[in-house]
Amino acid sequence: MAERRRDFCIECRKETEYILQKKDIVKKIKDKNYTFTITIAVCMECGEEMSIPGLIDKNIREIDEQYRAAEGLVSIDDIEKFMKIYKLGKAPLSLAIGFGEITIPRYLEGQVPSKEYSDIIKTALSSPKYMKKKLVENREKLTDAAYRKAFAAAESIERLFSVSDKMLRVIAYIFEKLEEITPLMLQKLLYFIQGVYSALYGRPIFEEDCRAWVHGPVYPEVYELFRDFKYNPIEDARFALLNGTKDALTDNEKRVIELVVNTFGMYGGKVLEKITHNEEPWIEARKGYGDSIPSNEILSKERIMQYYTITNQKYGIGTEQGLQRYIHDMLDKAA
Ligand SMILES: [Zn+2]
Repeated sequence: MAERRRDFCIECRKETEYILQKKDIVKKIKDKNYTFTITIAVCMECGEEMSIPGLIDKNIREIDEQYRAAEGLVSIDDIEKFMKIYKLGKAPLSLAIGFGEITIPRYLEGQVPSKEYSDIIKTALSSPKYMKKKLVENREKLTDAAYRKAFAAAESIERLFSVSDKMLRVIAYIFEKLEEITPLMLQKLLYFIQGVYSALYGRPIFEEDCRAWVHGPVYPEVYELFRDFKYNPIEDARFALLNGTKDALTDNEKRVIELVVNTFGMYGGKVLEKITHNEEPWIEARKGYGDSIPSNEILSKERIMQYYTITNQKYGIGTEQGLQRYIHDMLDKAA
């Protein structure tokens, strides 16, 4: 149930309880009708709409966002991400993409960009290559330091594309579902996702091979992407680029990611590492290597699929309950 809220109702002439509801309204902007969903407060005693502090501002923001979405225009949020990703202030960013110095600052204050300018921002936001071109074109308008920082950022974003598209989208979806995740934990979840998906659907979800490193299976390309975060939670502005691209995953893929995030994802990286250390594919790949001896042996996708197919027959890992049973058994083994 929603939390109970109270405020003054002018109809009832006293303080009453109210509930928040969604309401569709039609508004005409530049001769075109748009339907927007806004939030209203309704008095629980008389049923009239109440005016609550903050609600009008919230609705102005919601209408603005919905209008931009309907017109395919870049949002203020996106522009803020853009600044963060390229480590540029609003005026330098404006100059970097060939706009006047005050254009981006105005957009941040709420002015709606034209379709043409909006498209330039969207392209720059989704293509580091295009951004590099813009930076080179406008180099003399920027300080040397700003240019170098932004250019380095573009190159670091390009590195994202060294992993497969599928892998990126899986990672982006995990980031969306999990509040906090370290590189170690991410590596383990990717491995479990590969295992569960291939057991349920008879083929791997992504093409990358993982390696039997000391701390369990690791996808080296993904390791490279996040190595700077070490043991800390990943906070990667680059991934803002992938927001909204999760739709490129199939329903089955999303289902498996959710299954793994809702089960394995409840444990820390070290616990997950223990589980992988007790699984046959990892034990076999590590044969002949001492506990702390580095190895680059591949845990083949076929072996992972085979192991998880048998695990599926035993536990039914197509459900969260089945996966929980498997996890508990593996943790008992490790204890
Ligand atoms: Zn009332």
